[in-house]
Amino acid sequence: MDFSLSPEINDLRLRIRAFVDTHIIPLESDPNAYDDHENIAHEPLERLKKMAKSEGLWSLSLPNEFGGLGLKVAEIAPCYEEMNRSIFGPVCFNASAPDDGNMRVLAQVARPDQKEKWLRPIADGDIRSAFVMTEPLPGSGSDPSAMLTKAEKKGDKWVVNGRKWFITGAEAATHFILMAKTSEDARHGLTAFLFHKDQPGWRIVRRIPIMGPEEHGGHCELEFDNMEIPDEDRLMEVGEGLKVTQIRLGTARLTHCMRWLGLAERSMEIAADYVSKRESFGSTLAQHEGVQWMMGEVAMGIEVGRLLTMRAATKLDQGDFARKEVSMAKIQVADTLHLAADTAIQLNGARGYSKDTVLEWIYRYARQARLVDGASEVHKMVLARNFLAEGNDFWSWD
Ligand SMILES: Cc1cc2nc3c(=O)[nH]c(=O)nc-3n(C[C@H](O)[C@H](O)[C@H](O)COP(=O)(O)OP(=O)(O)OC[C@H]3O[C@@H](n4cnc5c(N)ncnc54)[C@H](O)[C@@H]3O)c2cc1C
Repeated sequence: MDFSLSPEINDLRLRIRAFVDTHIIPLESDPNAYDDHENIAHEPLERLKKMAKSEGLWSLSLPNEFGGLGLKVAEIAPCYEEMNRSIFGPVCFNASAPDDGNMRVLAQVARPDQKEKWLRPIADGDIRSAFVMTEPLPGSGSDPSAMLTKAEKKGDKWVVNGRKWFITGAEAATHFILMAKTSEDARHGLTAFLFHKDQPGWRIVRRIPIMGPEEHGGHCELEFDNMEIPDEDRLMEVGEGLKVTQIRLGTARLTHCMRWLGLAERSMEIAADYVSKRESFGSTLAQHEGVQWMMGEVAMGIEVGRLLTMRAATKLDQGDFARKEVSMAKIQVADTLHLAADTAIQLNGARGYSKDTVLEWIYRYARQARLVDGASEVHKMVLARNFLAEGNDFWSWD
């Protein structure tokens, strides 16, 4: 596979880099640029969204008819990486989770009238969205077949009852994609639905406090109490909920990897700057072999992560679900993000532990990477199952 970038994509990547350097990174050191949950505040965000739109840096992967650039997955990878060199980056370009994944799946599988109603306002950046799947005990987490939230058909409506949690962005979202159980069928028992925040029959039980900085709208626990959803707001066919999830999560997991690589690179930029200037025992820190080993290991990890990400992206662009390739990228990049943030904090000494840099923000944020969109252990299980089924063909060259 050839991962070299076309001149057009490289130009786009460099324009995003310049935008991040000029307009976004300076905000990180301004306390007024933060909201109450350590994310970018409303006013600077709206200003930057407008600017990104006017510079043609908006919704890279959406089709042109929805204001996007219609890029392939492998083409957005280097761009998303550049966006997340700032902790505030992706949301300014309409490329943050969960909107990014929600928009893409709607663009891929929704009916034309559903796209107009449910996708367009998210694509325009006017509203936010959420993806509602995970449940608290004893419901479904890693294993979707344990889902307890039910949707029962009554006439031309579905009636939903159940509980969900860790729903990113729910407090700020207007459009929701909901996964519910519609039959006992093991493969075709789930169905996807769309609902609007103003529909009656559901509520936010609480915004769950977490260890890291939050996405806008937090991570919420939701309760559904006889919520009615018209059948026309069903996404795909009855029983195709797992398919919707697979279509959404494959690319969504990979876009996490792209963004996390940007955060890992930024961590190393901060480390490189410090170790090049700080003198210790007769030389700069950068000249000590022990420091070089630490930095070399992370630099290699980032490159391995990029190669895995690009390989998975290329397969997705070829129409493959790329399950094992996405799982490998997700496991590796989550670990690399941890290692990069941890190494950068260590190399910055006491400064790394302070809030004078964004390293501590990245470090706390990084802990979710091994959990969100499938725990690393579950992705390793997927790899083992593939290996046991394929044998040596697991490492095929196609
Ligand atoms: C920050 C954040 C944002 C999230 N956003 C959303 C969202 O927007 N929408 C949504 O629906 N969900 C969301 N989630 C939920 C996330 O997708 C789940 O946390 C994830 O799928 C794991 O499910 P669980 O937490 O129920 O873990 P469980 O299924 O309870 O598993 C617990 C642990 O057991 C281990 N484990 C589980 N299964 C296996 C196995 N087969 N083999 C070996 N070990 C195993 C793993 O270590 C795992 O971490 C979010 C989670 C976080 C942390």
